[in-house]
Amino acid sequence: MAGLKFEMDGKQMASQEVLHLLSAKDGAVRKKAAKSLGKVFGENVRLFALITNTLAKDKAIEDEWRKTDSPMAMRHLSNQVEEEVVNALSEAVQASYPKLSHRYYALKAKWMGQDKLDYWDRNAPLPEDDDRIIPWDEARDTVLDAYRRFSPKLADLGKEFFDRPWIDAQVRPGKAPGAFAHPTVPSAHPYLLVNYQGKVRDVMTLAHELGHGVHQVLAAPQGALLADTPLTLAETASVFGEQLTFRALLEKETDPSKKRVMLASKVEDMINTVVRQIAFYEFEVRLHKARRKKNCRLIRLARSGWMFKKRVLDRLFACMMNISISGLIFLISFIHHFMSMPMHSGIVW
Ligand SMILES: [Zn+2]
Repeated sequence: MAGLKFEMDGKQMASQEVLHLLSAKDGAVRKKAAKSLGKVFGENVRLFALITNTLAKDKAIEDEWRKTDSPMAMRHLSNQVEEEVVNALSEAVQASYPKLSHRYYALKAKWMGQDKLDYWDRNAPLPEDDDRIIPWDEARDTVLDAYRRFSPKLADLGKEFFDRPWIDAQVRPGKAPGAFAHPTVPSAHPYLLVNYQGKVRDVMTLAHELGHGVHQVLAAPQGALLADTPLTLAETASVFGEQLTFRALLEKETDPSKKRVMLASKVEDMINTVVRQIAFYEFEVRLHKARRKKNCRLIRLARSGWMFKKRVLDRLFACMMNISISGLIFLISFIHHFMSMPMHSGIVW
């Protein structure tokens, strides 16, 4: 994925740069970015399907050897969570699609003066958004101040990540997209990877990954065998750091219309983190169950598999969004954990 190049107005860009343009103020730029992503992903869809198909088969063989009851069992075991708990979460969120994602995207379409939201406008800034770029130093101070108000110790640990520096923040060609915190080994120190581009969302991501980072530092004295935590616990620390920072930003803001934009953006992030993630989980459960039963041929997965995802996404968005086939390919083909970490979406991350 890091090696793919996307064309924007004659310029070759990395996926992260083009994905960033989906939150550009100008709707024409968002549309162009989405089309460029859809084109390159579309050209590679057979390769993505081959990889997914092969890995799903590999997983099915291993699950058979280990005699697991379901394709999700191994993931739940490593997350130290019972299947009934995840199923209850998944069912509750799916039952809430109408009052969460459907209602929000209908509202957003109205705010943006559309009957239905175009898929490239899913993460578009609201018309009142000021599109300000937050410099790196300001982002650092915002996050550390928010941490300090809760616990000076937490802020001191976080400050070390910036001072040493243990954060790779710059966007570069060939760099992995997204963000993560890696604990390396407990006797060393963690590293953070983010792709910082100055949006409020990027500040939130920084606060999130720093939450993982300080947690990893605090867990390190437990040693190599016990320092690692399942995702269920790990995400508690990171989302907590994110919430501290969001609340600090919201309290600082005095303009009610900017507050509204911030709250709407938080709702969108929560829909992306919880609701969309459950839709991915639903898709993965169906995919791996189908792969256990029969040998899907590559072309079948490439053709009907994507439609299969469309049904899941249709349920998520209902009729609130205009999605074409190239839009569909764009919306789902860059979710690399389908390939790198099957069933990861069972847990909010
Ligand atoms: Zn996380």
